[in-house]
Amino acid sequence: MPRIAIYPGSFDPVTNGHLDIVARACRLVDRLVVAIGTHAGKTPLFSIEERSTMLTETCRPLAERCGTAFEVGTFDGLVVDAARRFEATLLVRGLRDGTDFDYEMQMAGMNAELDAGLQTVFLPAAPSVRPINATLVRQIAAMGGDVSPFVPDVVVGRLAARFAS
Ligand code: ADP
Repeated sequence: MPRIAIYPGSFDPVTNGHLDIVARACRLVDRLVVAIGTHAGKTPLFSIEERSTMLTETCRPLAERCGTAFEVGTFDGLVVDAARRFEATLLVRGLRDGTDFDYEMQMAGMNAELDAGLQTVFLPAAPSVRPINATLVRQIAAMGGDVSPFVPDVVVGRLAARFAS
């Protein structure tokens, strides 16, 4: 049976932190679905299409390097329902620090109650990318700061274009 994992998040936009987790996950599974959550009430900087394009461009080469099948999907409800839809039995979450750990442990516990067949897997990010946070990246870019240490080049370009106007 192929090992299929879902990696959910907002990816607004994809950062080097997300890519570190994607690269690690690809070494563990046969198929990885990066699932963009589309929560009503939250106004994202980038549309689903833009986020999906940036994710595909940056993650696909990482997946190909590992021989892992890769897909970008979307979901607007429970992660456990999305996982079922994508036939994923593993739920990948990245860990940056103790705050992530406390919150993620709670989420993992509740998701396990909702679907005992879905196993959460925590992956610690490389120390160099742990401080990266998409919200701060957006704020720095909006104020004209250099975000090139935090996001891939395609995202640097998209952010520059978004805030140029
Ligand atoms: P952000 O918090 O940057 O907006 P998301 O909400 O999209 O990111 O988070 C999706 C997943 O990616 C979560 O599991 C989160 O812990 C993980 N993640 C986000 N940034 C990093 C990072 N710098 N290093 C490791 N994992 C990260």
